[in-house]
Amino acid sequence: MKTKKSAAAFKKAKTFFPGGVNSPVRAFGSVDGDPLFIAKGKGSKIYDIDGNKYIDYCCSWGPLILGHAPTSVVKAVQKSVVNGLSFGAPTVQENELAELIIKNNRFIEKLRFVSSGTEAVMSAIRLARGYTKKDKIIKFEGCYHGHADHLLVKAGSGLATFGTSSSAGVPEAFANETIVLPLNDLKAVEKAFATHYNQIACIIIEPVPANNGLLLQGKEYLQGLREITKKHNSLLIFDEVISGFRVGFEGAAGLYKIKPDIITYGKIIGGGMPVGAYGSSAKIMKEIAPDGPVYQAGTLSGNPVAMSAGKAQLSECLKKGFYNSLEAKTKLLCDEINKFATKEKLAFKMVSVGSIFWLRFSNKDIKSAADIDPKSMNHFRILHKFLLEKGIYLGPSGYEVGFISAAHSNDDIKKTIEVFKVGIKKAMK
Ligand SMILES: *Cc1c(COP(=O)(O)O)cnc(C)c1O
Repeated sequence: MKTKKSAAAFKKAKTFFPGGVNSPVRAFGSVDGDPLFIAKGKGSKIYDIDGNKYIDYCCSWGPLILGHAPTSVVKAVQKSVVNGLSFGAPTVQENELAELIIKNNRFIEKLRFVSSGTEAVMSAIRLARGYTKKDKIIKFEGCYHGHADHLLVKAGSGLATFGTSSSAGVPEAFANETIVLPLNDLKAVEKAFATHYNQIACIIIEPVPANNGLLLQGKEYLQGLREITKKHNSLLIFDEVISGFRVGFEGAAGLYKIKPDIITYGKIIGGGMPVGAYGSSAKIMKEIAPDGPVYQAGTLSGNPVAMSAGKAQLSECLKKGFYNSLEAKTKLLCDEINKFATKEKLAFKMVSVGSIFWLRFSNKDIKSAADIDPKSMNHFRILHKFLLEKGIYLGPSGYEVGFISAAHSNDDIKKTIEVFKVGIKKAMK
């Protein structure tokens, strides 16, 4: 396989951008080789600038639930774009996307559009603090919520440690407002509420933790978080930037039938364009400016072209059987590979929910970040390289999940299964 043009483009990019990229994980830092520069995508396939073709399971890290350049989304963007790219004044496209979402989601009454997942989460936390008039927040080790200061905090050891920042440039005073707890441990949460009595504004969680492996939690745990927050007049935020419109139109809230106080969206909601949103009850959303005192704004928020893309994509998601078909394909992929791994006695499992999957190099059920053995990532590195050479593109990190889109065919899946069988055996030798 030739990747000369990508290598040259990366060399040049390094003169422009830190690490040659505009978002760190793209740099292929945790796998062998250099990043591929992508020229185009159509359906389940992407093509790099050297002309190599790959079946894509990264799907832009989740947004592309219909695959690449789906006709309905491309047409909607084309129709919108000729009328102007941005006005900084209301457009009906905002109403249309909001109506589509709110009509089909039992968990939110009002929402606000922003331009990224990070922005959605950052704003949701400010809203929770403004509404409850409390400062501290609880997050969980291994959950990623974008790059806002108070969320770039990791746990030290111990149960209810104050966060130490996992990025330079975050003031200690900010990190001190973030309590980091392990997942799957309700006692730790109860203890934190007792220790910081009446100071905790909210708990934020990825209800389907999918940024540090796929650490699926039990429903009782999520229900427990719901009850504890209610008891302490604290809010529960579901960060559904990945799971929203992915594990079902109503996301994880719908999957688990748990009503959080605030939900954040990103990725799928914009159909591949930069859109995020946060939503809640009318009562809580009343705190947001200009109705209330919590300020949040955006020059390009509710951008009409992006709204059109989101509406076109979500309209497809609402079609009957859409999610069942995605899940069936994902099951086929995972079940076949898992059967093979069992037969070959490999400590490997494809873990999945809906159309999200993760390559777990372990036989143990893993529910918290600390239980992932960093050494297992060596297997991923070998496998990732092998898959690329065989025309299968996964996100370049073993901690990241993969995604199946509506464009993936059964033939794509069958081909992938066969390549995986050879690949995992080689990677785990
Ligand atoms: C991707 C992601 C974010 C950040 O969204 P960006 O659009 O990258 O800013 C936040 N939360 C979760 C759960 C995510 O997966």
